[in-house]
Amino acid sequence: MSELYCGRAAPPLKDWGGRLPVALVFPEAAEHGLSTLGWQVVYRLLAANEQLAVERFFWDPTSPRPRSVDSGRDLGLFPLILYSLNFEGDFPIALKLLDDAGITVRAADRPSWPLVLAGGPVAFLNPFPVMPALDGIFVGEAEAGLAAVMEGIARTWIGGGGKGEALDTISKLPGVLVPGKSPEPVRRAVSAGGSGVLANPAFSCFVSSQAQFRDMLLLEVNRGCPYGCRFCAAGSIYKPPRHAEMEALQDIVARCEPHKVGLVGTALTDWPDLLPFLRWLAERKVKFSLSSLRADGLTDELLGFLRHTGTRSVTLALEGASRRLRKAMNKRFSEEAFLEAVSRISRLQFGTLKLYMITGWPDESEEDWAEFEEFMACIDAARKAGQGNRKKGVELVSLSVSCLVPKAWTPLQWADVPDEGRLKAAMRRFKSIVGRYKGMRFAGENPGQARVQMFLARGGEEIFPCLERAAEVGLPSAMREWDALVHDVLHRHADRDTVFPWDRLDIGVSRKFLYSEWVKYRRGLVTPPCPEDGCEACRLCGMDEFLSLPDGG
Ligand code: SF4
Repeated sequence: MSELYCGRAAPPLKDWGGRLPVALVFPEAAEHGLSTLGWQVVYRLLAANEQLAVERFFWDPTSPRPRSVDSGRDLGLFPLILYSLNFEGDFPIALKLLDDAGITVRAADRPSWPLVLAGGPVAFLNPFPVMPALDGIFVGEAEAGLAAVMEGIARTWIGGGGKGEALDTISKLPGVLVPGKSPEPVRRAVSAGGSGVLANPAFSCFVSSQAQFRDMLLLEVNRGCPYGCRFCAAGSIYKPPRHAEMEALQDIVARCEPHKVGLVGTALTDWPDLLPFLRWLAERKVKFSLSSLRADGLTDELLGFLRHTGTRSVTLALEGASRRLRKAMNKRFSEEAFLEAVSRISRLQFGTLKLYMITGWPDESEEDWAEFEEFMACIDAARKAGQGNRKKGVELVSLSVSCLVPKAWTPLQWADVPDEGRLKAAMRRFKSIVGRYKGMRFAGENPGQARVQMFLARGGEEIFPCLERAAEVGLPSAMREWDALVHDVLHRHADRDTVFPWDRLDIGVSRKFLYSEWVKYRRGLVTPPCPEDGCEACRLCGMDEFLSLPDGG
């Protein structure tokens, strides 16, 4: 395995003497952690602090005891355990790692060190299913306050203080929730003033051959999305929308000297400097790859440049089966522009077109599927039109369909979860439509797995005993044993006044705005995207007021 740290060999491990040892735990396989930007930002922040000695832990099911990949030390030796929670499926693994290390799992039964904290996107989405195992969570962007939390804990530990003292110290800091000590709701810590500029774009510190994105420096281009798609939690929890400045990204590339860069962002084609930056990379012979693109942001110039520099496949999001569904989810989508983009992609000789869609919308019906059937015929015709007489161009259209998980902090948090039988029927239908075309392929998410995700995403502390059991026997078996609870969590009715588990947090987007978007979903009404001139000029979702409040509310 080869691994570089910020373009250089990794620095030697720090001596533990006079420092707080920190286990930074990514409860997934190493290849995922090494391809996750947020976790790497936290590592860099901790590694730069001389009071801390940080080591990395990943989930390795073959190891009976969790050990640091840096020193081989046992997790049980670390006084501070910091989880990076990126997927709801991490919950049972996080509990199992504590148990395997001989650490008492429930925080209430663990009065002394280690102190167990969690951060990451799931921590400010809905961490409450796993909250009984945690002494606290950090809610928000690491660069907006994690350093102060670490210093507070390090000072207490190095001075010989107890865990309770450390928790008292950090409980009032911005973004920290220590149950029973912090005033609630706890406000998300955000490193933005609403100016639209992403002040500290994230970038990988580890460039590794072991990563899912092999030997690639990941670089954050924008954070937060202006479009307000009603199913998208990232659209809420990363608000306000911000773009990096090209000079800042050029400076990172110049320092790290990567061979390949992966651009990461919620709305890549909205970044005005995208093409100039890609040209700058190409001049330096740095390869690049882009995450999914919006059809309406694909200019001829951008597509031509991507093809010229070796890109062979393009991913476009279709999201819903019909025009009506796409409008309800607030997706500004022109069928004509989409088909024109397909035709151009084919004309420019891209070999593969990946399409992404979601099924399981609250009111999705046979009519929507029938419209999708017609639209697939149009897509096939558009790619063939682009191929021309040479019969070259898009040779493979790959349709990937996932199941709607109505998530916290989206207008769809009020929606009923989709029925598993209905999801299976939808998948069968899409598969049969796609199967009629030569050169088209279908991949559908397993509705059973989606149901597991829905349970984890929508549950609160009441599902913790089921997670404890899942740490022993696996989630599917545990959910079968807790069938009544699972049914309750998945099918409890929510109305305007329902208090959700995640209402103990305040992520900045107002509940009033989210509910009005839910009403608009049902009426098929659209909401305009965030304007370019920022929150002050908009005041639609509440972020303007949130950002103007002093830390702590
Ligand atoms: S206040 Fe307006 S510009 Fe700011 S995040 Fe909300 S919708 Fe977007």
